[in-house]
Amino acid sequence: MLTIDILSHRLSSYLEPPQIQLVRRAYYYAEQAHDGQKRRSGEPYITHPLEVAENLANMHMDHQSLMAAMLHDVIEDTGISKKALSEQFGATIAELVDGVSKLTQFEFETPAEKQAENFQKMALAMAQDIRVIIVKLADRLHNMRTLEALKPEKRRRIAKETLEIYAPIAHRLGMNDLRIEFEDRGFYAMHPLRASRLKAALETVRGNRKELVEKIQSAIEIRLERESINAIVIGREKHLYSIYQKMRLKKKSFNEIMDVYAFRIVVDEVDTCYRALGAIHNLYKPVITEFKDYIAIPKANGYQSLHTVLVGMHGVPIEVQIRTKEMDEMANSGIAAHFLYKSDSDESSNSQARARQWVKGLLEMQQAAGNSLEFIENVKIDLFPDEVYVFTPVGEIVELPGGATAVDFAYAVHTDVGNACVACRINGHLAPLSETLKSGQKVEVITATGAQPNPNWLNFVTSGKARSAIRHVLKNQRHHESIELGRRMLSRKLSDVDIDFNSLDKAQEKILLEGSGVPTMDKLLEDIGQGSRIAFGVAQLLASDVKRPHGGVNIYSPLMIDSADEMMISFARCCRPIPGDPIIGHVSSGKGLVIHQDTCHNINDLRNQPEKINQVNWAPTVTGEFLVDIRVEVGSERGIIATLATRITELGANIEQINVDERDAHNSVINLCVGVTNRIHLANVMRRVRGLNSVIRISRSKQ
Ligand code: MN
Repeated sequence: MLTIDILSHRLSSYLEPPQIQLVRRAYYYAEQAHDGQKRRSGEPYITHPLEVAENLANMHMDHQSLMAAMLHDVIEDTGISKKALSEQFGATIAELVDGVSKLTQFEFETPAEKQAENFQKMALAMAQDIRVIIVKLADRLHNMRTLEALKPEKRRRIAKETLEIYAPIAHRLGMNDLRIEFEDRGFYAMHPLRASRLKAALETVRGNRKELVEKIQSAIEIRLERESINAIVIGREKHLYSIYQKMRLKKKSFNEIMDVYAFRIVVDEVDTCYRALGAIHNLYKPVITEFKDYIAIPKANGYQSLHTVLVGMHGVPIEVQIRTKEMDEMANSGIAAHFLYKSDSDESSNSQARARQWVKGLLEMQQAAGNSLEFIENVKIDLFPDEVYVFTPVGEIVELPGGATAVDFAYAVHTDVGNACVACRINGHLAPLSETLKSGQKVEVITATGAQPNPNWLNFVTSGKARSAIRHVLKNQRHHESIELGRRMLSRKLSDVDIDFNSLDKAQEKILLEGSGVPTMDKLLEDIGQGSRIAFGVAQLLASDVKRPHGGVNIYSPLMIDSADEMMISFARCCRPIPGDPIIGHVSSGKGLVIHQDTCHNINDLRNQPEKINQVNWAPTVTGEFLVDIRVEVGSERGIIATLATRITELGANIEQINVDERDAHNSVINLCVGVTNRIHLANVMRRVRGLNSVIRISRSKQ
């Protein structure tokens, strides 16, 4: 039975004594934490983390990975917190353990098989440190080796997850040995009958083939020796699951597959690979179309080898792979092979750096091969994802760009959902729509009928889809509002010349359109509403038509302002009018109608140009919050600003801005920008503030 002492001894082949000491400390800590817990098999729980660490030791992983392996179930299965681990072993170990726990808690079992690839990506996206994945794979390996102890249902679930998620991840990371074991064990657990039948068939065939295999192998060995090539020749057999897949997916018969004889030749140098190739091509005739040079053009996961197929005696096909020791190691261990080469630094960032280096290595191989870089994207994106993967409430995965928010999510689900969203739940809790999403979260959008996108969303959405959908809606909204405002402005100007807009006849409309040179009434009204055409001028087109020129005193029916939120109406910052103030409107190109206080001297110049001025008034039902500037002079008193703010907000007025101008030790001036509903509201606020002892003077500021 494996013990910590046996493991320590093995570790001494590649780790330093202080590092081994740390691994031992993690072991004893975990042993105590899991004290009294048993595995399903009846063994003490600690045997599991110990075996996981052993799996990692076989890959020669660093001591921090081994420590994380010892502790990997501590957060999940005992009461110990991440914080406690951090205090005991440092932040890096705590992060690793936490990362593995998160993957463990993760519910991978959703019905849709087509989502398996998304799950793989999601798992990788959730792991900040690539070692989290490697520890998790080692954990899964031990679980697969001890599946027998589990109930059939759980056994199948874990096997399915392994085949769909973890074997492909191992494959992506080039960890072939691991993948093969995952696949064969997964196959056994999922389809025990098929697997054992296939195995029996394989054993029969193996017996029949034995003689021929030995014959070919020695022929190859002799030929290589004659050419003075130092090489190891290994007879290969396809693993069970790959035979099964070939039969199922490629519709080949068992005999067809087993009719092939496969060998691997491992040599020292790259050059030797090609020399060995020449030698065996001399021995048996090669099938030209089957030759592949994966040394010059490596596979996506960094796999390198020469592949060739020969025709042997009696016409039997012989598959041969030729590669160096290093390539062989890479083909078996993939990314883990990179942990074999010790580096002097011990930083936690080192692991990610090595993963990056691995990817960089692949990239360089690919560049040297002068091939498209596309293949590498696959691996690179998986290891350093720019995307986040989140769940819908029904367990579907949605891929979003990094930094995406619930609004991006809503639009990714459907444009209508985005347009109508008002709030969201992340992992069951209400959260702001602007909150950045993380991989693995479950996101639920709350919609309301009639809700509309908020222009502010444009400040935080990251996906192109959300951005363009929001813009589209806002543009439409603006379009409608412009037409509506234009209609109100024109009908007011028309009423000055005693014409009722609503009873314009076709002939009058024609005069308006031709005189303005626009094709439709909507376009004309939109132009007016946006301020690019003056209502006064348009109205004059008909005024000349009417015999009775209008002059003298106007009986105004002013344009009514009924809300603070109309897009095409804005309120001048210079005088900040609020309901109750006498006002005047000024048409500004592109901005629509800008409302000033009647007394504002910024519009003095315009007063003599009636065509640019619109008589406006507040509708009695006006709604919304209007900003107003207030100036307060105060004597020094501790906490006066807080008192002031409380008084103001108690009356339901929002403080938008506050700044303090200290005059001297005794006097300060506080400038506030406050949102109020009307003059009465403002008066109440000011009265309330004036009541404070230290307030010397308060006034509405004018510019
Ligand atoms: Mn475990």
